[in-house]
Amino acid sequence: MTSLPPPSAKKLGLVIDLDICVGCHACAVACKEWNDGGEFGPLPDEQPYGKEPLGVWFNRVHSYEIAPARAGAAPMTVHFPRSCLHCETPDCVTVCPTGASYKRADDGIVLVDADKCIGCKLCSWACPYGAREYSAQRGVMQKCTLCVDRIYNETFDEYDRQPACVMACPTRARHFGDLGDPASAVSQLVSQREGYDLMPEYAYKPVNKYLPPRPRRGADETAQPAAAKDEALDLSGSPLLRWVDKLLSH
Ligand code: SF4
Ligand code: SF4
Ligand code: SF4
Repeated sequence: MTSLPPPSAKKLGLVIDLDICVGCHACAVACKEWNDGGEFGPLPDEQPYGKEPLGVWFNRVHSYEIAPARAGAAPMTVHFPRSCLHCETPDCVTVCPTGASYKRADDGIVLVDADKCIGCKLCSWACPYGAREYSAQRGVMQKCTLCVDRIYNETFDEYDRQPACVMACPTRARHFGDLGDPASAVSQLVSQREGYDLMPEYAYKPVNKYLPPRPRRGADETAQPAAAKDEALDLSGSPLLRWVDKLLSH
């Protein structure tokens, strides 16, 4: 089994704003292109152009419509991007029998060493967020690396040293930075918008945070007192995200 390092001061991660994500999948495509598109010809997926293309996606976007609690109120669509949360105390590392799955001591990024991975899939069973992706073609586990090969790449301009998904997002719903530094822009954003840990009951302590969606203007807005509107959409922040937690845990 594999040990976790002591908690690092630097905790690199993402902050994802569910209020402005439009579910366009640009982040997912940019992620795949950067992490899996380095060969000429088709991406190394099974049947990339077939009817049912299979393959590894480190970042997936799910869309849900939330029914209003009260008749006549507007429903709401929430787009939910999902990738590794680079948790502080994840069992996906400690269950690994070979040391392939590991957490970096200096910045907290969780990675898989493909040379040590035996493809046993124990780590994917231990991840409650469904963030690990087994590559049948390569016989190894894969996952979001936080684009570790971009963010420290000194041949890039400073602005380009960000994860591909963050660079691609057209609505600027994705933010990258050090969540261990309370003064960082991402930490400030989490503090101002009441950023949320996904499924905190697992005690994995995800570094990535989600910013909850704000109440939308319904078609019948003028007829509704403010308090009744919030109740109808059930958008007081955490309740909605607890609902997402419930969906993810199925
Ligand atoms: Fe591990 Fe899953 Fe947490 Fe990523 S999200 S660190 S794969 S438990
Ligand atoms: Fe470790 Fe690979 Fe097994 Fe995951 S699939 S537990 S990374 S050896
Ligand atoms: Fe949402 Fe941005 Fe991803 Fe589009 S690129 S799905 S807006 S996070």
